[in-house]
Amino acid sequence: MTTPRVSAILTDIEGTTTSLSFVQEVLFPYGAQHLPEFVRRHQDEPEIKALLKEVSEIQQVLLDDEAAIAVLLYWITQDKKLAPLKALQGMIWEHGYGARDFFGHVYPDVPIVLQRWHEAGLGLYVFSSGSVYAQKLLFGHTEVGDLTGLFSGYFDTRTGPKKEAASYHAIAQEIGKEPKNILFLSDVGAELDAAQQAGMQTTQLLRVGTEPYTGHPHAENFYQIELKV
Ligand SMILES: [Mg+2]
Repeated sequence: MTTPRVSAILTDIEGTTTSLSFVQEVLFPYGAQHLPEFVRRHQDEPEIKALLKEVSEIQQVLLDDEAAIAVLLYWITQDKKLAPLKALQGMIWEHGYGARDFFGHVYPDVPIVLQRWHEAGLGLYVFSSGSVYAQKLLFGHTEVGDLTGLFSGYFDTRTGPKKEAASYHAIAQEIGKEPKNILFLSDVGAELDAAQQAGMQTTQLLRVGTEPYTGHPHAENFYQIELKV
């Protein structure tokens, strides 16, 4: 059986384009560190008021601003992905990127190969558990500049969980291509299985610390990814 040609690439972020440590050791701590001050500084703005009200609603008790801050910080320690927290983290990260407190991390092979694929006419898409907003911030503020112009679309878990084939069917539909013509890149075996189940081609990225998973081609970096165009 010949391998179908690839006309689009769908990539994960953490552990694939970007080190796991950037998210765990830079983004999340920065969000936690700046959250109290950020909320206090903007607490009278309608958008922030609405988010704090959502915190109260989730906790089912009326919280003042300081109590809401404490709850938000607790959620961070519990790795809760609740809407008001995600929204606030996004705003704080945007501020951090803007102030150049940090850059969005991508491995050095990533921008070079993405550019090559883009020039070859491949559609490039992102699928990550981080919000689309956070994805655009990351790729918009890398050390080598703004990479968002290379991508044609972004998907997060609003489309569906990353370990379910239905999510990949939905993305293929949205992209307007057959799953077999889409190559999905990830470090996580269960995500690769789900994409493969949906009919996509797959490659596992083996960045530092990732264990090889059987049943999928492997690549240590984007240069090593083989595809038929
Ligand atoms: Mg990953």
